[in-house]
Amino acid sequence: MASKRRLNYAELAYEDVVCPICLSILIEPVTMPCWHSLCRSCFTLHVQETSLECPLCRMRISVWVRRNSKTNSIVNNRLWTAIKENFPAKVEARLQGREDSDEEEYAGFEPKVCAPGEIKQEYEALVQQEIREQASRKSQEEELSNQLIQQLQEEERCKLRHHKQTEERLCKEDEILAKKIKEAEDTVLQEKLRHLRMVCGNDEEVARQIEVRDYSQTALT
Ligand SMILES: [Zn+2]
Ligand SMILES: [Zn+2]
Repeated sequence: MASKRRLNYAELAYEDVVCPICLSILIEPVTMPCWHSLCRSCFTLHVQETSLECPLCRMRISVWVRRNSKTNSIVNNRLWTAIKENFPAKVEARLQGREDSDEEEYAGFEPKVCAPGEIKQEYEALVQQEIREQASRKSQEEELSNQLIQQLQEEERCKLRHHKQTEERLCKEDEILAKKIKEAEDTVLQEKLRHLRMVCGNDEEVARQIEVRDYSQTALT
């Protein structure tokens, strides 16, 4: 890439003349005071009309731009001539808009040619694998949901059992309480009865005494 040093125009390496913005060979290079170079179009678009500083090292170049624009000497013509002399094919390709077909970049690259039907086979194998994986995922999910259902059912049964036990216990407690109440009531009742009998017994005794007294008085008269 265009480096920050004074270039020896007689011995240019390709990486010395690559624009750091568009990454293609420099076309009409503009070399800024910091010795960084950009294509003229990249320079205009990204420096002259916007930041007025070198996009690589941030050196302010507004004064330099003003001065060189006036004298119309913004392109580094010595470098541009050297580039055209050293890399005529690349310059030509870039100017024709097909610089991507650089031979060196593709040297050693052997395109892999597929046998007929190979891609289709690969594709079908992938589809089959995906189907198998889906089936496996599905059965796993079903297994899990079955486990969950069983767990919920077990919990439900457990709750019911517990509920029933509680109910039975309460029922038993109720029975015991009822029995106790009844016993208490019986005791009170018997006590009352005994008292009543005693009172009655007394009354009978008094009545008998009165009767005896009345009879003896009648007999006397
Ligand atoms: Zn450029
Ligand atoms: Zn710079």
